[in-house]
Amino acid sequence: MAALLVYSEKIDTARELVAGGKQLAAALGLGVSAVALGPGAGAAASELAAAGADTVYVSEDAAFEGWPADAVAAGLAQVADIAGATVVLVGSTRRGKETAPRLAQKLGAGCVSDVNGLIAEDGDLVAARYAFGGATTAREKVATPVKVFAVMPKTFSVEGAIAGAGTVETPTLDVKSSVRVVDRRAKEGDHVNLDAAPLIVGVGRGFNAREDLALGDELAGALGAVVGCTKSLADFEWLGEDRIIGLSGAKTAPDLYLGVGVSGQIQHTVGVAGAKLIAAVNKDKEAPIFAMADYGLVGDLYEVLPALVERLKNV
Ligand SMILES: Cc1cc2nc3c(=O)[nH]c(=O)nc-3n(C[C@H](O)[C@H](O)[C@H](O)COP(=O)(O)OP(=O)(O)OC[C@H]3O[C@@H](n4cnc5c(N)ncnc54)[C@H](O)[C@@H]3O)c2cc1C
Repeated sequence: MAALLVYSEKIDTARELVAGGKQLAAALGLGVSAVALGPGAGAAASELAAAGADTVYVSEDAAFEGWPADAVAAGLAQVADIAGATVVLVGSTRRGKETAPRLAQKLGAGCVSDVNGLIAEDGDLVAARYAFGGATTAREKVATPVKVFAVMPKTFSVEGAIAGAGTVETPTLDVKSSVRVVDRRAKEGDHVNLDAAPLIVGVGRGFNAREDLALGDELAGALGAVVGCTKSLADFEWLGEDRIIGLSGAKTAPDLYLGVGVSGQIQHTVGVAGAKLIAAVNKDKEAPIFAMADYGLVGDLYEVLPALVERLKNV
C-alpha cells in the first residue's frame, strides 16, 4: 500500500502531522508512516506508533545527531522508497524548512513550503499558504507523482486523534553528513517557545521605550503569560527575534492573545489567527487589531496596564 510519510524532529509537530496525515491518507487511500531519526529516537518512534502511525521507521544513526539537513534528507529519501511514499509531510520548523526542498530534489518531487492548510480534494492534495505578505492565501497543488509539503506547526490539531498501535521498523540507512560540527554554543539572549504558549501578551510600538516593556512583563507575570512582540520591537533590538509573532516569526495558537500597543497589521496577525480568544489594548479606536479582537479596550497602555495588573493581583 502506498503511504503518506510524516517527519519532524520536534515530537509535538510530528504527532500533529500523524493526526492530520491520517485524515488525508484516509481520503486518498494511503497508509500513514512516520519517521524518527537521531540518537534516542526510539522513544519518539514508540510515541508516534501509539499516536496512530501504521508504521514508524526509526534510525538512531549518529549521522542524524543535531538533524543536519543533508543527512536527514538522504535518510528520509531512503525511507520514502522503503515505505512507498507518494506524499511526504515535513514539519516546517527551521530544520524542516531546510530539509524539505533537499528531500524533494532527491525524490524528483514538487515541494510546497510554509503550508498552513492541507486538504484532500478530488483525490489530490491542495495546500494553502500565505502570499503577498500575508494579504491573501494561495492554494497550490503539486503536479509530480511524489509530493513534498513542509507544513507549519499547529496546522493540524492532535485533539480527538485516535490512538493506534503501529509497528516500529529499524531500516539500515546509508547516510553521512558533510556538515562537521566543530563547536556548539548556546544562543545568546532569552528563549521562549511561543508556539506552545497557552497565554501570550503581544507588545508593540505603543511602548515608547525599552524600559517601559516592564509594564508588559508585569501584565504577563500577573496572567502567567509569555511575552511575544511585533517585528518592530525586535528590529529595535528591544526583544529577541524568538519573540516575533507573525509572518517572519511564530505562528501561535494560544488560548488567549492580548495585544498591547499593537496596531494589527496583517504580517503580525497571521501569527495570532489561531488564538482562541483575542483581546487588545490600543489608544486608537480605529486600530485594525480591534476588527479581529473578541475584546477591545480603547485606552492609553500607560494607564490601562498598571490598573489591569493591580486588578489581576486581587483576583
Ligand atoms: C515582509 C514583511 C514581513 C513582516 N513580518 C512581520 C512579522 O512577522 N511580525 C510583525 O509583527 N510584523 C511584521 N512586519 C511588520 C508589520 O508590517 C508592521 O509594521 C508591524 O507589525 C507593526 O508593529 P506595531 O503594531 O508594533 O507598530 P505600529 O503599526 O506602529 O502600531 C503601534 C500601535 O500602538 C498604538 N499605540 C501607540 N501608543 C499607545 C499607547 N500609549 N497606548 C496604547 N496604544 C498605543 C497605536 O495606536 C498603534 O496602533 C513585516 C513587514 C514586512 C514588510
